Amino acid sequence: MNAMVMARKVSKSFGALKVLDGIDFTLPKGEVTCLIGRSGSGKSTFLRCVNHLEEINGGEIYVDGSLIGYRRQGNVLYPLSESEIARQRLGIGMVFQRFNLFSHMTAIQNVIEAPVQVLGMNRDEAIERGKKLMTQVGLSDKLDAYPRQLSGGQQQRVAIARALAMNPKLMLFDEPTSALDPELVGEVLEVMRGLAETGMTMLIVTHEMSFAREVADSVAFMDQGKIVEYAPAAEFFGDPKEERTKAFLSRIL
Ligand code: ADP
Ligand code: MG
Repeated sequence: MNAMVMARKVSKSFGALKVLDGIDFTLPKGEVTCLIGRSGSGKSTFLRCVNHLEEINGGEIYVDGSLIGYRRQGNVLYPLSESEIARQRLGIGMVFQRFNLFSHMTAIQNVIEAPVQVLGMNRDEAIERGKKLMTQVGLSDKLDAYPRQLSGGQQQRVAIARALAMNPKLMLFDEPTSALDPELVGEVLEVMRGLAETGMTMLIVTHEMSFAREVADSVAFMDQGKIVEYAPAAEFFGDPKEERTKAFLSRIL
């Protein structure tokens, strides 16, 4: 199985509002896709469906070959239990717009919390790994800093290290730089670029078009709950096919 994420005919409504309208999407292992589109087009909802923070109303999502949220028996899907869903989520790291670190814990404590508490990792081992991850995100000198002592960009980098500490096979990012002051955006994108270079599979909702152009293997454009265009990054930006993509790009580039 070469796909890390495979979505088939995924639909999702909130009441009468159809937010995802038949999403077909495949993200191969080791690749980076940037998901772009106007506010309200369904990007966050799709990301949240991938790790079952939202329940889909139709279709199927597979992550690394596992059907998310359900077990299939014949033609019938049975919902997984909370603990089974929690286990599926362990393999999926998520970084949000707001860093939501634990404010009463230092950076390194934030990073080792889940490996120790959830995975039962030995504390010394978790600290060793945590230090490596803090170095990877360029914060080896901030191990003992509390979130309030860190800039937004530094907090977001700790949040990335914290997600990586669970050794995910897939990383989801939802506008990871949108809440940052402009001068702090670059340092977070740099960390994400480095992560992409390690071969991490990443699905990134972003408005950073130059990042998408340079780092992403492919770009998906969402509009009104549909993926309108999905193409290799160079082709997407250099020769977009769909009118809606062209209109979107001409507004923002
Ligand atoms: P995007 O991330 O592309 O800006 P979202 O996925 O956040 O879009 O939202 C898509 C649409 O779904 C919007 O109209 C939004 O208001 C609606 N929506 C998102 N979450 C909920 C929710 N929990 N309840 C009701 N409507 C929601
Ligand atoms: Mg969003």
